[in-house]
Amino acid sequence: MGGRVRILVKCSTCKKSLMNPDVRVDDLPSIHLGAKVIEKTGNIYLSQIYGSLNKKFEDVDDIKDSVALFFCPHCHNPFPVHEMCECGAPMIDLNLEVGGVIKIGTRNGCEHRSLQFVEPDDMFSLFHDQDKSGLS
Ligand SMILES: [Zn+2]
Ligand SMILES: [Zn+2]
Repeated sequence: MGGRVRILVKCSTCKKSLMNPDVRVDDLPSIHLGAKVIEKTGNIYLSQIYGSLNKKFEDVDDIKDSVALFFCPHCHNPFPVHEMCECGAPMIDLNLEVGGVIKIGTRNGCEHRSLQFVEPDDMFSLFHDQDKSGLS
């Protein structure tokens, strides 16, 4: 796979986009997640670049190894969890806009990510469309 793969996601419940053009991470619109860390509730903005662990914290603390509870910033439903990370933290499911799912670990500093595609075409469109876009 050449270049950087961008992950564009939406809420699996309300189907609204989680991409936030107002908060940029890696100089691109971020993935906006509501988050509860210890007793505080705020927002965490992840990089849309697959493999990048850059992120921004708003109203929650950046505590290494803490496990966040993530919820949709639009409908406030927690994201579904179907799998645990190898570190023991839950992994949330986010829907890819091209189809398929990305699972993201919820432990700060781990954030293991895995892509899952139901349809092979979905994987094709993820990688193919991005070749065309030229990724600046
Ligand atoms: Zn939602
Ligand atoms: Zn983990």
